Amino acid sequence: MNNKLEKLVQNLFKEGVIRSEIVKQVFLSVDRIQFVDESDKMYAYEDYPLQIGFNATISAPHMHAYSLELLKDHLQNGVRALDIGSGSGYLCAAMFLMMKSQQSKVIGVEHVPELVEKSLKNLNISYNQQLKDKQIQIIKGDGRLGYEQEGPYQAIHVGAAAETIPQKLLDQLDKGGRMVIPVGKGNQVFQVIDKDANGKLNIQNVLGVRYVPLTDLKKQLNN
Ligand code: SAH
Repeated sequence: MNNKLEKLVQNLFKEGVIRSEIVKQVFLSVDRIQFVDESDKMYAYEDYPLQIGFNATISAPHMHAYSLELLKDHLQNGVRALDIGSGSGYLCAAMFLMMKSQQSKVIGVEHVPELVEKSLKNLNISYNQQLKDKQIQIIKGDGRLGYEQEGPYQAIHVGAAAETIPQKLLDQLDKGGRMVIPVGKGNQVFQVIDKDANGKLNIQNVLGVRYVPLTDLKKQLNN
């Protein structure tokens, strides 16, 4: 039993951020402490982002929960999901558990090589088997290009703010699929993009947010 994690989940539930049983269970199953830096372990269950180096952060628990709730109906058995700017690897684990099946697959794409290594190390603690089976995979690359090889994806989470929605990500979104993405410079808006059976897109603005930019590696490191 992890009291601090339970308390966090209770609070997110009270605040209405966690609304479903499945997100609640997944939140209790993925231990955030495995995804934060050594020096921040004592803050693992606080509801704010934490630095993970290279001008990146592990997002705040309420944003992880919010994203999982929005993607919930698309993280079904046997589907493929994409996590752009996978950073700590937390959401790759959480998205995988949402889908809980042997046929499911989560691909994380991250451009900082050291963060790719760090996330693999984090995931290796409890998700070693899924890494071996390639049910969870972290790809080093430019997330704006997505990862065509494994697409199309029923669910795409973008964990960094794009100035405009990358076309490649829209292309790799499956029919009937959903993408959540922070968009904008400075004032960002969290958008939910649904692609219907005919390939038509519907875009909703749901929340004002602050994310690390989805940008060139050089720009991020010089920030
Ligand atoms: N969901 C992650 C968020 C990490 S912060 C977590 O909670 O841990 C955003 C991440 O996006 C950073 O790790 C950053 O390195 C990455 N990123 C920014 N621009 C990128 C790009 N063009 N391609 C791939 N990753 C990118």
